Amino acid sequence: MEKSLGRFEIQRELGRGSQSVVYLAWDEQLQREVAIKTLHFSRPDAQRNAALLEEARAVSRLRHPNLVPLFDVGEEDGNPYLVFEYVEGSNLAELLAREGRFNAARTADLMRQVFDALAIAHASGIIHRDLKPSNILMDAQGRPRVMDFGIAARMDADASAKESSGLSGTLNYLAPEYVESRRVDARSDVYAAGLVMIEMLSGKPPISGDTPAAVVFQILNGTIALPTTGNIDQKLASIILKACARDPEVRTESAAQVKAQLDEYLGAAATPIVYSGAGDSKKVDTLEFLLRRMRHKADFPALSESVAAINKLTRTDRESLNKLSNTILKDYGLTNKILRMVNSVGYRSANGSGISTISRAIIVLGFDALRNIAISVLLFDHLQDRGGVREMKEAFLRANLAATLARNVGKLSMPREAEEAYVCALFHNLGQILSQFYFPEEADEIRRIIVQKGYSDEMASTQILGISFSELGMGVARHWDFPASIIHSLLPLSSSAVRKPATQEEALRVLSGFAGEICSMIASAPKEKQREAIAVVRQRFVAALTFTDEQLNDIIEKSYREVMETAQVLGVNLTQSPFAKQIKTWIGPPTGRTMAVEEDALEGTMLGLRSRPEAALGEDGGNDLSTMAQSILSAGIQDISNALVDNFSLIDILRITLETMYRAMGFQRVLLCLKDQKSGNMVGRFGFGTDANDLARKFSFSLNDAPNVFQTVARKGLDIIISDVADPKIVDRIPAWYHKLISARTFVLFPMIIKDNPVALIYCDRENAGSIVIAEKELTSLKTLRNLALLAIKQSL
Ligand code: ADP
Ligand code: MG
Repeated sequence: MEKSLGRFEIQRELGRGSQSVVYLAWDEQLQREVAIKTLHFSRPDAQRNAALLEEARAVSRLRHPNLVPLFDVGEEDGNPYLVFEYVEGSNLAELLAREGRFNAARTADLMRQVFDALAIAHASGIIHRDLKPSNILMDAQGRPRVMDFGIAARMDADASAKESSGLSGTLNYLAPEYVESRRVDARSDVYAAGLVMIEMLSGKPPISGDTPAAVVFQILNGTIALPTTGNIDQKLASIILKACARDPEVRTESAAQVKAQLDEYLGAAATPIVYSGAGDSKKVDTLEFLLRRMRHKADFPALSESVAAINKLTRTDRESLNKLSNTILKDYGLTNKILRMVNSVGYRSANGSGISTISRAIIVLGFDALRNIAISVLLFDHLQDRGGVREMKEAFLRANLAATLARNVGKLSMPREAEEAYVCALFHNLGQILSQFYFPEEADEIRRIIVQKGYSDEMASTQILGISFSELGMGVARHWDFPASIIHSLLPLSSSAVRKPATQEEALRVLSGFAGEICSMIASAPKEKQREAIAVVRQRFVAALTFTDEQLNDIIEKSYREVMETAQVLGVNLTQSPFAKQIKTWIGPPTGRTMAVEEDALEGTMLGLRSRPEAALGEDGGNDLSTMAQSILSAGIQDISNALVDNFSLIDILRITLETMYRAMGFQRVLLCLKDQKSGNMVGRFGFGTDANDLARKFSFSLNDAPNVFQTVARKGLDIIISDVADPKIVDRIPAWYHKLISARTFVLFPMIIKDNPVALIYCDRENAGSIVIAEKELTSLKTLRNLALLAIKQSL
């Protein structure tokens, strides 16, 4: 490798394409890192170089936040090289390979930026000609950056001259009209970007084939299909399919148009995240600025990551069940709070008996409900902990009441939407809550002008923050990968009469809008004006939502009770809360008596909950810890017994078993292995804890190996603890594959055998030698758990 090129010092190789190598280099003069692409043609050709450099000059004039700028060009030994901004991160192809696929909202959000970059280039007469995932870099802020405008294709012209087919490089994204008659215009880029979108949604390129001829055949004759999984609705599907229509005359004409369609799809009419045009870009800047400020404060990034991780899971994907529980279980406090929520009033009717594992909660309440509970607990836990101020608590209560109202109204009028409505309404107040937490001074100012000038929330926040609460909420929700339907629901309703919703998305928007308004009325109307205030709101929604006054009163009362309990679970003290007082004035005297009783009863349960040995969750307090372990084990055994009676699927019961062991004993990880009928090997299936699912995929051993602990234990059905894998007495019996896979020094094995045949094995470990200690009572419970799992396996045979 040369040490320098012109004034640039080469540092290392970043990647390679068919005729280029990309290096990270140091620009001594401007003191910055750059990426240099060196081109190697089969033979030097001054004329071609001149044409390439001419194109490069045009490209270097392009400026857009979603493209990689070309800084400079040069020539060395007859070969041109190009100097780009260095973008740290992976390209989209790598990211996709890592993450599998993206959800609809994320895909639309990323691609609208790509289409915007394309639109800018097209406006300057530059066509990309080679758009594909590896030409889209993802920068540190998660922004897509398109690279290689116009250049990649020109380089390929060199190779194509030699090839009889006349085509080279990646053919998969070539537009049909190019393949047919070498026609290229802006629409070829639109087509390629459409294909990239499908690839993001499905995880694989929509056009592919084993040979160039097969690919060409696909381009000209194949049908382009969208994946059937994921939350792709009709609207998004039609935007994408029109962008990659085979006939360029039918195709969406310009990148700018697709970008506008995606904006509309994302409900971005209210939050135009465009980077050009004076009026809009100010809002984007504001949003970016607010996000930046949030990032710097407390642990917003960690919160963002957790929420986004949960949002990435989809209910259709079987593996997601395990991932969702895994994500939650990583956080002990969160797990406890979620379990208490699950057993609180709002959900109790659904679950019948108590629930003590996340795995069972997901099955009983459903994936969506549990994801929603997890997100709300995460959010409020995070803000609650640090906020402490009164306003924060008030905002929290309001959001929660709105959410609960939306769910309860939903249950009545559109049951299928009820759970989703809960999150939508919760996040309706997201902007306001976040402002309260991250920008308390501005929030005070906003409240002041609402009172003084009689502004609405939206007007006041726009005046002070530069964007409205709902725009801020939508921006963050997008950042957190919320599904498009939720983001859409955050658009404020118009102030005129609300029409009957025609789509599911609209229904969510109406439900959460209604709940939010009722909530505002509850917060502000004095007692004697309450009826009137509610009547006004109802009148506006009369075409959209139908129920009687009585039903609405019941709902408000029911919701109030549920919110009180949620507050208790999350440890929010309500004694000083004006909002809590205000809600009480709404619960009229007729039902007062029952309320009082309920509240007492509630107080009792809550005391019970509070007195749980929360402190024992820490590392110290040996005795408490073992009480805690014992109570989790007992509850888990109860959960499995219930699940067995309820005819749960085997895998669900096994999940509950493992989760209970994991949580009770504080193992680093637990893995389940099942005997694979084909190979006869014991093979890892899933697990909980550090990298558990990755390890499960690699965990596999033969039952006919030379004698070692795994093989012996699995065959003979002996439970065993290995305190230290390096102990001289045992070291020879630990197989080499184990050391290669796992660094844990101590583990426990619980095998399962039916009539002398090994069928399964549970593996539990911790990192440090000697760190697993199991009291006798706990061991009995662990064995009971294993026996129940074995029973479930037998039942399923
Ligand atoms: P291809 O697009 O076929 O993958 P390229 O020669 O265009 O090949 O680029 C090779 C790799 O180098 C890219 O996939 C990318 O990971 C990396 N790369 C290219 N340009 C940059 C850049 N400006 N900053 C960081 N990495 C880059
Ligand atoms: Mg490239």
